[in-house]
Amino acid sequence: MNQDQLLRAAKKARRPETRKKYMARWKAGRLRLQIESCEGCALAEGRINAVPWSGPTPSELAILGEAPGRDEDREGSPFVGRSGKLLDTALLAAGIDRSKTFVFNSVCCRPPGNRNPTSEERTACRPWYLKQLRAANPLVIVLAGNSALEMALGETGISVKRGKPVWKDGCLWFPVKHPAWYLRRGNADELADDLTKVYDIIEGYSKLPFSEVPDLSERSVSAELKENGWVHIHSDIIGDHLIIKQTGKTIVPAKVLKQGYAVYTLDELARVRMLAGQKVMNTRGLRAVHEAKKVFNGVVVR
Ligand code: URA
Repeated sequence: MNQDQLLRAAKKARRPETRKKYMARWKAGRLRLQIESCEGCALAEGRINAVPWSGPTPSELAILGEAPGRDEDREGSPFVGRSGKLLDTALLAAGIDRSKTFVFNSVCCRPPGNRNPTSEERTACRPWYLKQLRAANPLVIVLAGNSALEMALGETGISVKRGKPVWKDGCLWFPVKHPAWYLRRGNADELADDLTKVYDIIEGYSKLPFSEVPDLSERSVSAELKENGWVHIHSDIIGDHLIIKQTGKTIVPAKVLKQGYAVYTLDELARVRMLAGQKVMNTRGLRAVHEAKKVFNGVVVR
């Protein structure tokens, strides 16, 4: 559907969820058009095409690269050249479906001669980076190379940081070396191993034993819900996971919700219990829990 059709469909939709879905698609379409016509820095002068993201919005997994190269500039799509082919192979080896992955770059236009983007160019492109990230709303973000690491976390040192995920702002940031590095090396096994870890995190998350959750009917938890506006439950049946039932109020960031429940690992339980003393678990409280997180589905993070 084009932009006009999406807007018409949104206006016609009876159900709020349907309207929201069409509007989200319309907003993503508008963002794409804005990026494609951006002239916010000198890189626009030398480009054939600006290169916005590929893949669905939202998406559980996002991959942030450095900058478009010659092939990407020609096609207007990220990671379609030699690095992209290598990335595709590594994703395939890890069991990740690229068509379900949100792929974007720290800058949207090709730097001349494929040089690294400067920090000024990254700063100029930052609004697009942030808007794309918001549209993707991922659980895990793979940072491919130093430019991505610097754009996302303000850090350098990809060789040391690769494979060591960081939990921040309710997302898991997973640094890997850039696919072009493996192209020069002629072997992408290490990248495939890192991406397998990413796959395991996402799969582990989606395979939590929701069917075995004990009775969380309104009747059984209503007193606690009434008192606090939220409830937490931990038992042997659900293993080492904490489950928070979402109530009418938006107290849990949407991206950590699965079937109406937010799930945390055991080491966070103590912190949540601490926060329980505050009576009202507000968004800031929950964000503090996220920030304090040390283990995420078995992956140790700093
Ligand atoms: N390298 C990148 O970092 N991004 C691309 O889109 C292509 C190559």
